[in-house]
Amino acid sequence: MIGDIRYWEKKASEEHFAIPHFNVWNAEMLEGVIDAAEEAEAPIIISFGTGFTGTTNFEDFCYMMESMAKKARVPVVIHWDHGRSMEIIRNAYTHTMNSVMRDASALPFEENIKEIQAAVNFFHPLGIPVEAELGHVTNPGDYEEALKHYNYTDPDQAEEFVERTGCDSLAVAIGNQHGPYSSTPKLNFNVVERCKAVVKVPLVLHGASGIGDEDIKKCISLGIAKINIHTELCEAAMNAIKENTDKSFLELERIVRDAVKARALYKIRLFGDEGKAKDFKAASEIGVKKQQDGDFCE
Ligand SMILES: [Zn+2]
Repeated sequence: MIGDIRYWEKKASEEHFAIPHFNVWNAEMLEGVIDAAEEAEAPIIISFGTGFTGTTNFEDFCYMMESMAKKARVPVVIHWDHGRSMEIIRNAYTHTMNSVMRDASALPFEENIKEIQAAVNFFHPLGIPVEAELGHVTNPGDYEEALKHYNYTDPDQAEEFVERTGCDSLAVAIGNQHGPYSSTPKLNFNVVERCKAVVKVPLVLHGASGIGDEDIKKCISLGIAKINIHTELCEAAMNAIKENTDKSFLELERIVRDAVKARALYKIRLFGDEGKAKDFKAASEIGVKKQQDGDFCE
């Protein structure tokens, strides 16, 4: 079933777990993460972004994302990641996505606010939530070098940013980076703690592939409610391919799907997301039963 990111991020914030956000851009990744979510009875977010458009045609693939999300036995949010312009996220909306991130974090504070306000004004009347980013999560590259010039989220600005923009969730920069880390991640937990104290919307952690389990658990305990994973899914797929070069292409497809599933399952359990769709299903089953009993009216 299609999931509502606002419901799950709010629940995650309140119950101290995190909903996993998996970037997917081919059938094996998409099937693998949904297999994992169904097995763990866990809500998930599946997501696409501009970085994958050179590999996969989004305007075709989006329909497979939507179809699999609808058929899944658990809630699956379909989300656009890092929308660098209004045009890009409007296109995402007209191609099945029910949640968007507008990323203007490379711009100065006031310009970032203006861009997010414009996105919120456009999307909220359509019922589409908007994620924003303050500070800047760096792009793949030398991690130690990136840390020297790192733009951490300023908790004092975060409160004003969320209030003025009306964004639905906030991605924070706490020493996290996209892609593989060239040395052990050094997270500034104080930034999460201080943001959580003043920001009224759920907090999001990007670039979480390669961050150790204990650090992830600490982030969740301090208030991170959504965690983005891409690189680790790719690593799992690549390792499986390297270990199975004697297999046929058809067999490899299945092997990759299972490898992605195993890694996604690990993350779902680590994030405390396992079983969270169970109660949700129970709630909808009660709705169905009431309808059958004839006392369900609207
Ligand atoms: Zn990201």
